[in-house]
Amino acid sequence: MSKADLYIMSCGWIKIPAQALIRDRSSDEIIVVPVPVYLIKHPKGNVLIDTGLSSEFIQTSGTTQNDFGLEIQLNKDEYIINQLKKVGLDKSDIKYVINTHLHWDHCGGNKDLTESIMIIQSPEWDSANNPEYIAKKYYVPRLFNQHQNFSLIDGEYDLYDDGSIILVPTYGHTDGHQSIRVKVGDRYLLLTIDTAYLREAFERRILPNIAVDNEETILQSLDYLKQQQDAGDVLFFGHDYQDFIKVSDGSPNKVTEEMLDLLI
Ligand SMILES: [Zn+2]
Repeated sequence: MSKADLYIMSCGWIKIPAQALIRDRSSDEIIVVPVPVYLIKHPKGNVLIDTGLSSEFIQTSGTTQNDFGLEIQLNKDEYIINQLKKVGLDKSDIKYVINTHLHWDHCGGNKDLTESIMIIQSPEWDSANNPEYIAKKYYVPRLFNQHQNFSLIDGEYDLYDDGSIILVPTYGHTDGHQSIRVKVGDRYLLLTIDTAYLREAFERRILPNIAVDNEETILQSLDYLKQQQDAGDVLFFGHDYQDFIKVSDGSPNKVTEEMLDLLI
């Protein structure tokens, strides 16, 4: 097998006003976006990047609402533990969970991944436990604060020290947000996560309406993404439906080096 195999899936879907993600869009335009989760099968241990929506949102049909009234959809099949079964994995097969940040749609499955080590940037841990942020519902502690085995890092971190999975700080969206560079063949797919929700937002350099406490820092992180793109990384955006369906039908789909060309 190659050094590492990347799979992309969606652990739920969110209906959201486009303006929330691109601030100059019309206020009545509603879009549906995926909640991407990434699995890397690696010889030294399988890795998940984020864990999607919580099982408490599973519906047999239709949609439900999250803590602040966003409409969301999660079928049983789409819950992270059930998605893993589709590629023959059990929760005990996941060595590390990289939480890019601890927003509700990125850590919902954490509570069921009790045997994994969760890796986050240390400023993210401080923010997620900040009573002011919790009161504002930026963070929902019942979704992540399970006294699990959190490992805190500061700055860039090469997980297996072989260049296959590199965590890079892209602060701004949250105080400790990180993006991930994953080697696919000879190239890197840079998972922007929520530094750029959509390709259009990145290309037009338009910020969202939500989660923008620190605009200057987000812009610096966008500069970093651009610099990496110019150096050859292929970018995969945090919640971009059009890009998502090029590489995944929702279930875990393996991403080949050839498929990266679809994302340029
Ligand atoms: Zn977020």
